[in-house]
Amino acid sequence: MSEVDKLWELQTVLTALNEREKQMSVKPESFAAVDREFQAANEEMTRLQTQIDALAKERRRVDGELSDQQETLKKYQGQLMQVKNQQQYAAAWKEIDATRKHVKDLEESVLKNMTETDGLQQQLDAHKGGHDALQARYDEAHSEWQHSLSDLRAEAEKLRARAEQIEAAIPERLRNEFHKIYRQRQQVAVARVNTDTCSACRTRVRPAVAQQLKRGELVHCEGCHRILYLERPAS
Ligand SMILES: [Zn+2]
Repeated sequence: MSEVDKLWELQTVLTALNEREKQMSVKPESFAAVDREFQAANEEMTRLQTQIDALAKERRRVDGELSDQQETLKKYQGQLMQVKNQQQYAAAWKEIDATRKHVKDLEESVLKNMTETDGLQQQLDAHKGGHDALQARYDEAHSEWQHSLSDLRAEAEKLRARAEQIEAAIPERLRNEFHKIYRQRQQVAVARVNTDTCSACRTRVRPAVAQQLKRGELVHCEGCHRILYLERPAS
């Protein structure tokens, strides 16, 4: 196997490895779709629960105020029994009226709070009802994805080992040259020649260069400076 052949094989293995790594870094659409649905349902349930909690807190505050006002009302009603003149009587009644009105407002606010809480609770219950089925679909899609990842990981591991093996058989100077071009040229250091053209940059290969390629010599593309590879019949 010539040095160019080894470099070409290294390029092929690294390209396949990059492809696996790219596949591993993205969620497959089959999982992404159920993941979006699952996250949206969870967010909606959290949102409903937060609203219900806020209403419950408000309810406790209103209940406290309501019982204070009811106490106050009793106090004024007691005073009413002890008034000594018309003026005190009128003043006590004025307080009682104002307090009754306040109590009524608070009771209405409790009713409104209960109605809102019921509505939100119904929505939350509906979500919870469908949640087990959604969770099951999510778990299944997730485990399928993880399974496909473990296949990809195993393939990537083999390719990495193969790349190391090939590199060990390439002289250091050439290996360094390969990696320099690989880094600088979008991870393609070796480009295949198809019908006398560099497949990476479309530059024509001059006949003299084509002759060198046919002899298995290491030549660079005059357009992109990548190492050129021409598939030759096995000799
Ligand atoms: Zn080129």
